[in-house]
Amino acid sequence: MKNMYELGIPVPANKSLVVRTIKDVNKEQRERTLQKTEYNVFSFPADLLVLDFLSDSGSGTMTDLQWAALFHGDESYGRNKGYYVLLDAIRDVFERGDAPKRAINMILSGETDAQKLMDNLYLTSHEGGFVNGGIHQLARPNVFIVPQGRCAEYLLFSTLGQLLREKDPNKEYYIPNNGHFDTTEANILANGLHPVNLFSKNLMDDFPYDQMSFRNPFKGNMNAKELEALIQEKGVECIPLIFLTITNNTAAGQPVSMNNVKAISKIAEKYGIPLFFDACRFAENAHFIKEFEEGYKNRSISSIVQEMFSHVDGFTISFKKDGLANIGGGLFFRDNGVFHERFSIKGDIGIQLKEKQILTFGNDSYGGLSGRDIMALAAGLYEITKESYLNQRIGQVRKFAKELAQNGIPVVLPAGGHAIYLNMDKFFENTDMKIDDFGGVGFTIELLKHYGIRACELGPFAFEWDKKTPEQRKGILNVVRFAIPRNVYSSSHIDYAVEAITELYRNREKIPKVIITRGAKLRLRHFQTGLRPIYKD
Ligand SMILES: *Cc1c(COP(=O)(O)O)cnc(C)c1O
Repeated sequence: MKNMYELGIPVPANKSLVVRTIKDVNKEQRERTLQKTEYNVFSFPADLLVLDFLSDSGSGTMTDLQWAALFHGDESYGRNKGYYVLLDAIRDVFERGDAPKRAINMILSGETDAQKLMDNLYLTSHEGGFVNGGIHQLARPNVFIVPQGRCAEYLLFSTLGQLLREKDPNKEYYIPNNGHFDTTEANILANGLHPVNLFSKNLMDDFPYDQMSFRNPFKGNMNAKELEALIQEKGVECIPLIFLTITNNTAAGQPVSMNNVKAISKIAEKYGIPLFFDACRFAENAHFIKEFEEGYKNRSISSIVQEMFSHVDGFTISFKKDGLANIGGGLFFRDNGVFHERFSIKGDIGIQLKEKQILTFGNDSYGGLSGRDIMALAAGLYEITKESYLNQRIGQVRKFAKELAQNGIPVVLPAGGHAIYLNMDKFFENTDMKIDDFGGVGFTIELLKHYGIRACELGPFAFEWDKKTPEQRKGILNVVRFAIPRNVYSSSHIDYAVEAITELYRNREKIPKVIITRGAKLRLRHFQTGLRPIYKD
C-alpha cells in the first residue's frame, strides 16, 4: 500500500477554529466593480472576492500560539520586550540550528525573576553573527527591523547608491540575482544601480507532474557561469553585492539547492563580494532541500536553515512570507563581515543605516511595527520551521499544480513553494494573443469577473515589456501567479480554483486583449495603472 506522500496528498497539519464568511457576490456586481476600479486587480475590494491569490504576503492565518504571543506585546517607545525576544528568535532560527535557546518562553510563561530576565534576555551580549547584542548592537548595529521587505531594500540600496556615487560618480554598478523580485528591482533602479537576472537555464523546461513528489531540478538556482562571466566583464568594483533569492519568487517560486548556495558563495568569496539572501521564503526553501537534495533527508529544517545562512554575509527579508506574520521585515548583516568592511567607507555602515532607519521607520527597537506585531512575528518564526506544517503547505501547492496539469493547463512544473504559475505563452499558443496584448492580464480580469478569484500577472505587464530593450526583455517571464496564503485555504477552495481556471482555458479564445488607459509610464505600474479589456464583439 502506498503512503499518502507517494499519492501526493498532504497530511493535515492543523485545523481551523475560527472562520470568516465569504460574501455572496454575483458576476454583474463584480463586473461593475471592475469597471469602477479601472480593471486593475490590485484596486478590487478584497471583501467582494471568493478566493484571493493576489499574494501570500501578510495574508496568512496566524496560529493560536501567535495570537497568544500577541497579548504579550509591549508598546513602549524604547526597547520594548518583544525587541529582545525577536532578536533572540532570529539568532535561534538563522544561527542556532538544533540548539535554540527559546528565550521567548520566559516571556510567554510570565517569568518574574528579574535577574533571570537580565541574564538571559535583556543584557545578553553577542557579536560576530547576524545579530549583535548588548553594547555591540549599539556600537556596530547590524539588525534593522522594518515594516516590510521593501523597506529593508530601500534602506540598503538608497544607502549603497549614495555611497557608490560619492566614491565614483562615473561608474555603473550591477546587482546580480537569481531573480529580482519586483520591489527589489525597483529599489535598485530608483537608486541608479542596475539589476541583472541570472535565471537557471532549465527554468522553463518541461517536467512530468507525476514526478513532483520524487525529484526536483531546483530551477530557482542562479546560473553560476553567467555570474562569473558578469564579474569578469564588469569588474569586481562594479558588483557591489550579489543577491540570491530563496525561493526564487520571480522564477516561478522555484527553490535554490544547497549546492547552488555553496557554489555562488564560493564565487562571492573568491572575488571578495558580499553575498546576501533575499530570504523571504527560507523555510520553504529548506524543506525542498530536505526533500530532494542528497544528504539532507535526515536533517532537521532548523539545521538546514542554519547551514544555508552560514554561507551568506547578510540578508533582507519580508517576514510577511515565511514569518507567518501579517507585517514585518528586516535587514541583517554579519558583524565585521565582507559587507561591513566593504561599505564602511565613510564610517560604520551600520551606524549610517541606523540613522536612515530612525529617520524613516522609527527607532531601531520597533522599526515601524507595533509591539504586538513584534511578538506575533517572533512566535511565528518557530511555527514555520515545523516540518508537519511545511509538508502540508508545500503539499497543498503541489496538489494544486498537479490537478491543473492533469486538466491540461500549462502550469510551470514542478510547483514552487508558495504559488503556482501559469505559462501564458503556452496558454495562448495558437491564438492571436501577442506578448504586448497582455493576455495574462486579460485572463486575470476574466477569472475575477466570472468566478471571483483574484490572481496576479507577473509578466510583460508587471515587468514593463514595452518599456524595455530587447536585452532586458530576456529577463521577463510571461506568467500569471496564484500565490497561496499560508493556512487559509482547504482542498475545497483549491478545487474551486482548479475548475475555474480549467473553464477559462477551454474558453481562451474569448479572453480579451488589454490596453493601458492611464499611467503606462509609472514605476511599479501594475499596482496603479488604469486598464481596459478589449472584447471581440
Ligand atoms: C514579498 C517579497 C519582497 C518584498 O517584501 P514586502 O514585505 O512585500 O515589502 C522581496 N523579495 C521577495 C522575494 C518577495 O517575495
